[in-house]
Amino acid sequence: MPAGTLFIVATPIGNLSDLSPRALETLRSVAGICAEDTRHTRQLLSHFGIERPLIALHEHNEEAISERVVERMVGGDSLALVSDAGTPLVSDPGFRVVRAARAAGLRVSPVPGACAAIAALSVAGLPSDRFVFEGFLPAKSSARRERLGKLASETRTLVFYESSHRIAESLADMRVVFGDARNAVMARELTKLFETVLDGSLESLHAQVLADDNQRKGEFVVMVQGAGDDEEAQLIEGRRLYARLSEHLPPSTAAKLAAELSGAPRKSLYGS
Ligand code: SAM
Repeated sequence: MPAGTLFIVATPIGNLSDLSPRALETLRSVAGICAEDTRHTRQLLSHFGIERPLIALHEHNEEAISERVVERMVGGDSLALVSDAGTPLVSDPGFRVVRAARAAGLRVSPVPGACAAIAALSVAGLPSDRFVFEGFLPAKSSARRERLGKLASETRTLVFYESSHRIAESLADMRVVFGDARNAVMARELTKLFETVLDGSLESLHAQVLADDNQRKGEFVVMVQGAGDDEEAQLIEGRRLYARLSEHLPPSTAAKLAAELSGAPRKSLYGS
């Protein structure tokens, strides 16, 4: 009996019509489907009249499920892996299962489709020939600013996922670290009824989000234009000064002085 294939199947990020004909055909044909939230996936499948056994897959049981998946594939079963929305493994579980299947020499095949990051980039109007996908930022502001600080001199477009709970705080931290004037785009509820794409400086995006409750509802992709050559040079100089000054001065004084002398945002110098 030949070994089965593991199909990694993208599902819609809001609009059910975005499930491709090949995704439907694949989900109908496999012996079982690994799913993040089985109730959620069962609803999707029943909408399309598909009944297949589901295998619950989450971060805590991925290792155990990986073994089971490999055993079944070796025994000849083809399986699918889906997440709650979009492309599995993109800020979603599945990486360990794919790694185990590949390590066992089994075939893993993509059935591509929706991905919030790519959909957002495609409508942002920011440079997209080179970009950095950063997924979710840390929940705590101090850790978030530290992570952002490491990205302050990045010249490629930055792509973040964000939830309604933290969108305002994250934009506030981006203003502090990247500076008020940096261009950004916020894509909300893509492919859904309240799809909104806002662009402008970080300052204006933050102000719009604070001024309108609706702009804090739903699911978000935030994209920030990369640092320009000037900004990058300022940051490099600011960090050099900070490193030297903090040998002799308290960190906050060193950062204040380095920021004044270089023109770089003060918070972007911490954690560097
Ligand atoms: N695997 C998914 C993908 O391919 O996009 C992403 C899963 S991640 C757990 C969920 C996050 O993706 C949300 O918090 C939000 O940041 C983003 N997202 C998902 N659907 C979205 C949508 N319709 N509009 C904007 N962002 C979305």
